[in-house]
Amino acid sequence: MKRKSTYPALVIHGGAWDIPDDAVDAHYRGIQKALKVGWAILKKGGSSVDAVEESIIILENDSTFDAGRGSFLNSLGEIELDASIMNGKTFRAGAVAAVKNIQNPISLSRLIMEKSEHILLTGLGANRFAKEHKVPFCKMEDLLLDRELQRWLKLQKEPDYSTKDAFRMKQRKLPSGTVGAVAMDKAGVICAGTSTGGTPNKYPGRVGDSPLIGCGTYADSSVGGVSTTGWGEAMIKVVMAKTVIDIMEQNGGDPEDAAKKGITILDKKAAGFGGVIVLNKKGHIGIAYNTPRMARAYITSAMKNPVIEVE
Ligand code: ASP
Repeated sequence: MKRKSTYPALVIHGGAWDIPDDAVDAHYRGIQKALKVGWAILKKGGSSVDAVEESIIILENDSTFDAGRGSFLNSLGEIELDASIMNGKTFRAGAVAAVKNIQNPISLSRLIMEKSEHILLTGLGANRFAKEHKVPFCKMEDLLLDRELQRWLKLQKEPDYSTKDAFRMKQRKLPSGTVGAVAMDKAGVICAGTSTGGTPNKYPGRVGDSPLIGCGTYADSSVGGVSTTGWGEAMIKVVMAKTVIDIMEQNGGDPEDAAKKGITILDKKAAGFGGVIVLNKKGHIGIAYNTPRMARAYITSAMKNPVIEVE
């Protein structure tokens, strides 16, 4: 049976990992607020790019998540952020990697998408572009949480700590909290975005999947949009976001099937863990993850109330 179109539509995530019981409420409230802000934009006819940016800003400013304020520290005790955004109609994209002192890297990514001929700017180049476009800088202390300082101090006493082991040996216990959003507006334009502080104690300059178009983020309004979260090195190996889009192009546009198959590929080919949110060109949603929990929320024009889940 052919399903009716249900856009505008919005789906967001706040990371896939073993979210502790005592952090579930904060995750729930965070994604609830972000969904509300993004949905208000879409409902009144606003663009999917605005909805994605504004939803992600809420999550970057919420220290519950590993994005913007509250991000993990790298092995030098610094905060380096990655983000990306893609417009599925114009096929333009913008991204930043390993950028410091920027509270909302998703907004800087959008500026790069709209005002630069390039797609991805890293480190000092991204800061230079931010300065030229009058994006405010923040101090590292503005992004730093005592929770993360304590985590970092603890990890300095574990010289053998590795992300790979945290994922594989410790029952998928690598903390996460990357955020992402995919929206389709009334005009049928799909936009996807992702923002993260990366993985705890990462090597300085390490870039994960989140700012890489095709790995952490992808949007093509003629097929759908995807944002991912999880172990970035594995996501990059299977070009996760674009892989899910390609599956959807071949399975008749079924986002649930594409999300599930994407996670199976991640698992089988790269022994990876994580989650994906998917939106197809009709505004239907698919979500899949192979971690103990994933924070996710969505709403479409066919729904009275949103679905918000952290389980
Ligand atoms: N994918 C992110 C990274 O590897 C982390 C995450 O989603 O938890 O940087």
